[in-house]
Amino acid sequence: MAAKKRERWRGDGRSGVCSVPDVRLRQGVWRCVGLAACLAVCAGFWTCSEAAAQSPTALPRMTIVLDAAHGGEDLGAALGAEAAASVPEKVVTLALSQRLRALLTARGFAVVETRQGDVAVDEDARATAANRVRAEACIVLHATNAGSGVHLFVSSLVPMPTQLLMPWKTAQAAQVTNSLKLGNVIHTALSTAGRDGDLALTIPTTLGRTTLPGIDSMNCPAVAVELAPLRDTDGKVRSEVTDADYQTRVLNALAAALLEWRSEAGAA
Ligand SMILES: [Zn+2]
Repeated sequence: MAAKKRERWRGDGRSGVCSVPDVRLRQGVWRCVGLAACLAVCAGFWTCSEAAAQSPTALPRMTIVLDAAHGGEDLGAALGAEAAASVPEKVVTLALSQRLRALLTARGFAVVETRQGDVAVDEDARATAANRVRAEACIVLHATNAGSGVHLFVSSLVPMPTQLLMPWKTAQAAQVTNSLKLGNVIHTALSTAGRDGDLALTIPTTLGRTTLPGIDSMNCPAVAVELAPLRDTDGKVRSEVTDADYQTRVLNALAAALLEWRSEAGAA
């Protein structure tokens, strides 16, 4: 996961959250649009129009960004025990994003997806989408054949105070503390999911920190959620990542975690 992201990363560090990545600096019209958007963010008066349009109640709205990793020519990992019947990771992450979006919108969240189809979206564009809407949580979705259960990752950047101009490639540093809090909320929700007297339904969950170039440019509490097969203690796969019931359990736990995250934000 991380290696692929590192390969694709091509920013040079000159840009900041309040500017735009170099790839856009070479495109005149997009430069103007991007700068205007970022100036609005920096001035603190950017409002998510989608959130406002969808708000059906007086409940405080919370915007969640769902980032389905890979897409287009970037297939991601080949998932499944048999190569001949493998499923590209990009298909699984998009399905997870779409299913989670349905769960979250039903619970009153505003949801922004970085991609809604089989299209390539570079890391800069993903981070730009997240930063533009000032999301309260960003969930980056991956899947893998390795390990068991769910692997959660938070950026390994050293936390630093929020500044008016955050360097683009390390914007996440201002959010790392919040990202760790979000990661712990998700970890608790996943670890306790299905523990209604049936340990066989427990989802093994780990929480680690690593270099995450895509997330490192996001100025929001952000966690990478990597879905692995569910394995028995002998390593035999009990549920593949494509298993709909398994996905449902994980996604329900993620939705519960974000409800808890919203509750904690409201109580703060
Ligand atoms: Zn991946």
